[in-house]
Amino acid sequence: MVEFKTIIEPFKIKVIEPIRITTEEERKQYLKEANYNLFSLKSDQVIIDFLTDSGTSAMSDNQWAGLMLGDESYAGSKSWDRMRESIHSLTGYPYIFPTHQGRAAERIVYGKLGGPGKVFISNTHFDTTRANIEVTGAEAIDIPIAEAKERNVLHPFKGNMNIEKLETLVAQYGKEKIGAVILTVTNNSSGGQPVSMENAIQISNICRDHELLFILDCCRIAENAYFIKHREEGFENTSYFDIARKMFALADGCIMSAKKDAIVNMGGFFALKDKDFADKCRETLIITEGYITYGGLSGRDMETIATGLQEVFDPDYLHYRISSTGYLGKKLHEMGVPVMLPIGGHAVYVDAKELYSHIPPESYPGQALACELYIKGGIRSCEIGSVMSGHEDVDGKFICAPMELVRLAIPRRVYTQSHIEYVIEVFEKILEDKEKIKGYKIIEAPHFLRHFTAKFQQLV
Ligand SMILES: *Cc1c(COP(=O)(O)O)cnc(C)c1O
Repeated sequence: MVEFKTIIEPFKIKVIEPIRITTEEERKQYLKEANYNLFSLKSDQVIIDFLTDSGTSAMSDNQWAGLMLGDESYAGSKSWDRMRESIHSLTGYPYIFPTHQGRAAERIVYGKLGGPGKVFISNTHFDTTRANIEVTGAEAIDIPIAEAKERNVLHPFKGNMNIEKLETLVAQYGKEKIGAVILTVTNNSSGGQPVSMENAIQISNICRDHELLFILDCCRIAENAYFIKHREEGFENTSYFDIARKMFALADGCIMSAKKDAIVNMGGFFALKDKDFADKCRETLIITEGYITYGGLSGRDMETIATGLQEVFDPDYLHYRISSTGYLGKKLHEMGVPVMLPIGGHAVYVDAKELYSHIPPESYPGQALACELYIKGGIRSCEIGSVMSGHEDVDGKFICAPMELVRLAIPRRVYTQSHIEYVIEVFEKILEDKEKIKGYKIIEAPHFLRHFTAKFQQLV
């Protein structure tokens, strides 16, 4: 096979959505009006939207065609049959439940398993996962491997869970107190880094030996499968789909936000092996989400999920997806932008603490970079640092996040290679005046998930 340098999108454009090109002056004004919170911007004020890869994907012609086939029957919808079959053939799990998005599945599952005194253990809990656990009074403990905290350390599976720590926690808390062990693939809040099959097997064995529930947070399982095939010995000749299937077989259940690797704009599900637990969850599903054959989704949404879950395993798509993200990361790295290495699957993470080393964590260097990217290039990114997970302890002392990252999350099949080149150029401008940039302070914020609605003031 001839290898070309240029990454081409393995699709053609059939419909376009215009982007409004704003000026820097306009953007300064918009940002001020948004209280320097990028979640408060209007989408047409943004040129390149890297806020999230969640629900921002472009659907295929086949998925759009599926909208017309949507069966909107309250019960027994054909579209649900298609969605369930698609999930069943991938996971092998017998009990499958639709929800309107990932966090609804989390609320049902962790709501049942949680409660005061319970602990949950994960490589890293995603923010909504942590919130859904903590809101029950339970504790969420993150145990990524030590390498995960070292920006520069190359490790093929930096998303892995620390097995030694898992064993210690299992001995400490025991079966009665542990709500579940949750493996997030890829590890979103820790750089979008992959998890190896070997790690999943070790976790599975520990959970089986101690009768603990093992849940896969499988939002990006196809992207994770790509890394396993190309980095882990013994999987060179296994298809991406079969790699994913093998990982599902190791766990007792899964929760998925379909807004990621199902390449749709809305949806989610959870799937379980155990009948008794499934029965309990079904009750709550009907009370809070909807009947079991739609769970908060319309029939047409279920059609698109069924199709998207198959398309995402297409080798051409996955190769383009991971290469394109890798290209952006590699270019930024070569320019001297401190990025998390190796580059993950769905996003490039910039270390703002290192880039703006003059801004202390309590002045939110990540927020400062996110605002600069918007002002200079209309790029919307997401702070994953002390705005998202910093807090004050009981004495009012500021506790910062382990890292001050800014995530450039890349929507699936939306931007082309020239958009990526533009982003690289904006970073050249970021490097030019980095010493002049000042931090921010929070002037208003709620207790849970404060990054969504906090208001900021620019420090002078
Ligand atoms: C997005 C995400 C969720 C939550 O899903 P929503 O659909 O946004 O509610 C949970 N876990 C991980 C790892 C995610 O990336």
